[in-house]
Amino acid sequence: MAQLTEALDRAKQTPGYTFAVLFVDCDRFKLINDSFGHLEGDRILCEVARRFHACLRPTERLFRLGGDEFTLLLDPIVSPNDAIEATDRLKQALSKPFEIKDCQMFMDASIGISIGSDRYQRPEDLLRDADTAMYSAKATMSISYAVFNDAMREQTMQRLHLEADLRQALERQEFRLFYQPIVTLASGKIMGFEALIRWIRPDGKRISPELFIAVAEDMGLILPLGRWILKEACRQMQAWQQEAWGSELTISVNVSVKQLARLMMVDEIDQALLETGLARSSLKLEITESHLMDNQQVVANVLEKLRSRQIPLSIDDFGTGYSSLSYLHRLPVDILKVDRSFVQNMHQDADSRNIVKAIISLAHSLNMKVIAEGVETEEHYRMLSELGCEFGQGYWFSRPLPADDAAHLLKSRPCWLP
Ligand code: C2E
Ligand code: MG
Ligand code: MG
Repeated sequence: MAQLTEALDRAKQTPGYTFAVLFVDCDRFKLINDSFGHLEGDRILCEVARRFHACLRPTERLFRLGGDEFTLLLDPIVSPNDAIEATDRLKQALSKPFEIKDCQMFMDASIGISIGSDRYQRPEDLLRDADTAMYSAKATMSISYAVFNDAMREQTMQRLHLEADLRQALERQEFRLFYQPIVTLASGKIMGFEALIRWIRPDGKRISPELFIAVAEDMGLILPLGRWILKEACRQMQAWQQEAWGSELTISVNVSVKQLARLMMVDEIDQALLETGLARSSLKLEITESHLMDNQQVVANVLEKLRSRQIPLSIDDFGTGYSSLSYLHRLPVDILKVDRSFVQNMHQDADSRNIVKAIISLAHSLNMKVIAEGVETEEHYRMLSELGCEFGQGYWFSRPLPADDAAHLLKSRPCWLP
């Protein structure tokens, strides 16, 4: 940081003075640690450092930030091409295999570049931008380096604003739960609701959960937010049951794997049920398939505890992730929710139809039931019924509704048989 500060000072005092920061992250280094142990991992990092060091020019200095992350300070540079040329040299240094035990391993790196000039105020911003550019390089498989640019600056700013707004949204009570009915296909009657969160900004603008849930997860905000969602959903369902609109109705709540990866989660569920008086059997939890494979051990522990409390579990967006079937079989799962992408293409595309069919028979042979998401037409309904799917959810029945409208719907006791 001291050397970065000095470089920045020079840039501020000398018109046209530029330098560059390279942020180098070894790809898949965790794999080496996990397969060969940390001692071998450390040895390889030393070897990487030696190789990088051997290819430096006099104006370049190498640092290790931590883990498998290195930075290179190029001070000064004549043009950004100097920085790009340096990435070639670093890549070249990694091109020979590394010897680990009896294996030969190949390693690659993703590199982000920020160009230091008097536009920057603080040295940490240069590092942050090089880091952002590195992520952008990593995300694009075909490129190995990226130079921080204005579009990335714009995205970073938007993200920072979103985070700041999200932080306040919970206190300012800008979240609402909407409710979408889940229908028993055989009877056409409402079996329960899925609670879906909505963020309504003070200016009336609505932000999709698809945009903010992942950010809330990164920020850790999903924990207090998730507690609120759980309690509010339980409270609402208990109120509806009290109104005698069906004590057998269930409420499905989406939970993030970040919540499930904490043993505390079980207590929080107990507490939400206790405080609202909702029966255990009325609550269902939904977990997205693609997240299930992360953090397997802790998640499995929490799920096991939930099973012992007889709280049913659904796997959401099934078919889009990569579940290992043996793992799935060991989890206490009651319901698979077929991702709506398959349902929506069912009538025109034989592959989608076959996937839906396969998921239904997989579920049934594992003693699970099936909810089809994204039922948008009567034809979807018919096809799903024929395939033996138990439940459906989608715009053909109803869009997600505010609580009042959902209560009206319940009161009118709809029957949606095709
Ligand atoms: P999801 O759990 O798979 O929810 C179903 C999504 O499909 C909802 O989008 C719903 O509005 C939409 N949908 C329902 N029927 C149809 C249909 O017939 N056609 C189409 N095109 N879409 C339909 P939504 O509400 O935007 O939620 C998106 C995702 O955000 C959810 O997917 C879920 O993963 C996440 N999410 C929503 N609420 C929460 C929450 O309270 N907590 C957490 N952790 N995640 C949530
Ligand atoms: Mg869901
Ligand atoms: Mg879904």
